[in-house]
Amino acid sequence: MPRLSLSSFEAYLFDLDGTVYLGEELIAGADRVIAGLRAAGKKIAFLSNKPIADCASYADKLTRLGIPASPQDIVNSSAALALFLQQELPAGRVLVIGEQPLIEELQGAGIRIVEQARQAEAVVVSWDRAVTYDKLNEATQALLAGARFFATNPDVACPVPGGFLPDSGAFIAFLEAASGRKVEAVAGKPAPLMVQMALKRLGVPCQRALMVGDRLQTDVGVGKAAGCATALVLSGATSRQDLQSSSLQPDFVLDSIADLSEAAC
Ligand SMILES: [Mg+2]
Repeated sequence: MPRLSLSSFEAYLFDLDGTVYLGEELIAGADRVIAGLRAAGKKIAFLSNKPIADCASYADKLTRLGIPASPQDIVNSSAALALFLQQELPAGRVLVIGEQPLIEELQGAGIRIVEQARQAEAVVVSWDRAVTYDKLNEATQALLAGARFFATNPDVACPVPGGFLPDSGAFIAFLEAASGRKVEAVAGKPAPLMVQMALKRLGVPCQRALMVGDRLQTDVGVGKAAGCATALVLSGATSRQDLQSSSLQPDFVLDSIADLSEAAC
């Protein structure tokens, strides 16, 4: 088998926090690497697991940090689920437990949002800071009546002042327990759907793509689940010691995204 080379891919998928930036700071060299990859004709997408910010806000942040980006360059778990439902349930009627950015993504994909169980062909569950008993009840009734069942994320821990609120995984668990149904597909990493949808948009097959990220379970996990090559960067959540003790091993280990410069020329 030929040795993989960092420059041999058609598409490069990047996790954001810990990979391209850390909080509000760009990882040194990330702007040059992305510009170089683009100049070399490579296709790029940025992936985020967070369903509660819209793609435009990620694009604005990247642009502000020196990486020009449009919302089309970003796929978060809301956008991935919207793209999936566009093909799975075109113009479907969906009852949503989730916030406005998710609702807007779904509407942008032609999905119709409903509030009553009897109108719903599917239930979509995400993180929702305004969830009520009535919403959970309508979603449960829809599932009991046979609506399909999707989620943006298996869990997203969302810190708020004073602690943590229940995450989307808790809402999924509630609905599964109340309805006796199991969620059918999840969009967020490490489920492969987000990578599949990003690559569909780019028009590149999984075998021709490299997934780059700072977390073994989510970023390396999603790349492997989708059939991509994977690169772990050590600029974020994972240390060399973590890597040594992990059963999940990436194809490449890089100190940071700056080490991709050899692929960008
Ligand atoms: Mg990360």
